[in-house]
Amino acid sequence: MAVATMTLDQEINPWEAQSARFEFAARKLNLDEGLWKVLSSPAREIIVHFPVMMDNGKIEMFTGYRVQHSVARGPGKGGIRYAPDVSLDEVRALASWMTWKCAVVNIPFGGAKGGVICNPKAMSQGELERMTRRYTSEIIEFIGPEKDVPAPDMNTNEQTMAWIMDTYSMHMRQTVTSVVTGKPLNIGGSRGRREATGRGIKVICDESIRYLNMPREGCRVIIQGFGNVGSNAARLMKECGYKIIGIAEWDGGLFNPNGIDIHQLVEYKNRNNTILGFSGAEAMPSEELIESECEILVPAATENVITSRNADRIKARVVVEGANGPTTAVADDILSEKRIFVVPDILANAGGVTASYFEWVQDRQGYFWKEAIINEQLETILRDSFDDVVRYAEAHNVNNRIAAYMLAIDRVAFTIKQRGIYA
Ligand code: GLU
Repeated sequence: MAVATMTLDQEINPWEAQSARFEFAARKLNLDEGLWKVLSSPAREIIVHFPVMMDNGKIEMFTGYRVQHSVARGPGKGGIRYAPDVSLDEVRALASWMTWKCAVVNIPFGGAKGGVICNPKAMSQGELERMTRRYTSEIIEFIGPEKDVPAPDMNTNEQTMAWIMDTYSMHMRQTVTSVVTGKPLNIGGSRGRREATGRGIKVICDESIRYLNMPREGCRVIIQGFGNVGSNAARLMKECGYKIIGIAEWDGGLFNPNGIDIHQLVEYKNRNNTILGFSGAEAMPSEELIESECEILVPAATENVITSRNADRIKARVVVEGANGPTTAVADDILSEKRIFVVPDILANAGGVTASYFEWVQDRQGYFWKEAIINEQLETILRDSFDDVVRYAEAHNVNNRIAAYMLAIDRVAFTIKQRGIYA
């Protein structure tokens, strides 16, 4: 679909957003028509409707998805999210973004994603555990260390992965730690995995300002989202000299032109479950914060944060996408015109899946690395990938997002061509 003719509904549909970029990049690449067809639809889409016994003794039905966009370069890889607005189109888009992300950082995985429509904030731990175990058992023949390896995403965490690992292992009659990544440390998790996406954001910010010749000292940063990705990025960036002047959350934001004490804010949020009311900054509406003056804006929460409605008011010099799909395709063009340097999600937040790759390797080896080794290897992969993308963008005169898509599509298409079409 041409970006210029998109309605707002189409603009904020993540699958349309993915397809618009895919088509643009594929055309630039002069991609073979057959491979174009292969890559423009997911390889497998699983939809399950399943019952869960709730705490009040009643049965509720839930709908879950697992989409495997491509398994050409290796097992499917990608998180599972729990949210009321999960849809098949969203999971499809997220699965294909995983294909491109794994290819951009050149790790041997395809792309997949899962989701369950539910309201996790209104569910007890017991309900979440029963829902997770039943969902796992519904998709059990489609996942596995060599097939498709889930991980955490929005509203899922180490505990969720422990339940999935245990359910899978009970069916296999043996412990299979490498079926999921993002597990707790003592059951096959990796050092550094929890912070990895945030650490990756910091590395990408470092690379961006180095590339643009901007100083780190006094570099003002606004972060949208203070979950696992946003809070770790904020903490690691503050520690090395960035000035975090704003944090925007779904229920409101905080602003302090002299910099927010992130350490204290993390403690405050752990205690109160919200950042609102924190005394070390002024309250400011999140929409206003996103449009405030700063050097770097990091949208690290959900899709569709920068759209045709606000893109022309963004004042950041650099946008580093911690979330998946925070910018729509229509907004891409507006940011490009404003010469804002955008580091796309499929590069900027790839630290998480890269550390997942290390976790999967360690589980299969049964040998666990020191945290320093993990962080060093993570940084090397991200720096090299950043370099690949910006050099590709310069050489082909396209923006970073299209460069990242072109690089990824080229790698995946090459593999499919080499493997051949099975008949
Ligand atoms: N959910 C994360 C992402 O979107 C991590 C995926 C993974 O580690 O497999 O990249």
